[in-house]
Amino acid sequence: MAAVVILGTAGIVYSRDQRQPDNTRPFAAAPGRPADHWHAAIGYYICGTFVPNLPEGEDPLGIHGHGDNVVHIHPFVNSSAGKRATLEVYFDTVGADISDDRIELPGQDTKRTGDRCEDGPGRIQTKVWDKRNPDDPGRIIEGDPSAIRPQDNQLITIAFVPEGADIPKPPSTPTLDNLSDVTPPPTASTSSTAPATTTAPDPTASTTSSVPDPNTSPPASTSSTTRVP
Ligand SMILES: [Zn+2]
Ligand SMILES: [Zn+2]
Repeated sequence: MAAVVILGTAGIVYSRDQRQPDNTRPFAAAPGRPADHWHAAIGYYICGTFVPNLPEGEDPLGIHGHGDNVVHIHPFVNSSAGKRATLEVYFDTVGADISDDRIELPGQDTKRTGDRCEDGPGRIQTKVWDKRNPDDPGRIIEGDPSAIRPQDNQLITIAFVPEGADIPKPPSTPTLDNLSDVTPPPTASTSSTAPATTTAPDPTASTTSSVPDPNTSPPASTSSTTRVP
């Protein structure tokens, strides 16, 4: 009896899953849905020094820089959206080649695990701050940085330093407040005087949040589907 109920539920979840393959943000544009436009600050900290901003490159996919060491994420196509919106796409456009044991940046010497910095042998370590809050201590992400999916307003420092070295926030952090391709909201003073005006953008907000909500769980339901049989 119970097994039948579980299988039935799994079947429903599964079919819904098939219709909507990847509802992870950032979204590419779709009918009735604009593309997301996210920004993350990024820096490359090699043996204790941040290298200069990487140049802007060609970008057919919608994850790029503007010579500002900011990852601009507005996927043009599904192949660079959602779970495929990785730093690898960005590295390709700015001419960087980074893996878990090697970092090659335009105009810089390639560094490999064990190459010496002044304080000892270096290795690739990525530090990420999810919040702009100065109290956020950040966290280290091990492994290949190109697999990281940058999030909106995140700070990312890809470091090649000895184990345990201090890894600072990327120098491009303030650029997130001063982006050349984003018009600052003119409502800053208006919204505090007239809270009623805030109702205008609400329909969009509620639409956006109601769409991904039921689908945030598919990764989990996929695994439960696998478990049932
Ligand atoms: Zn942008
Ligand atoms: Zn752009």
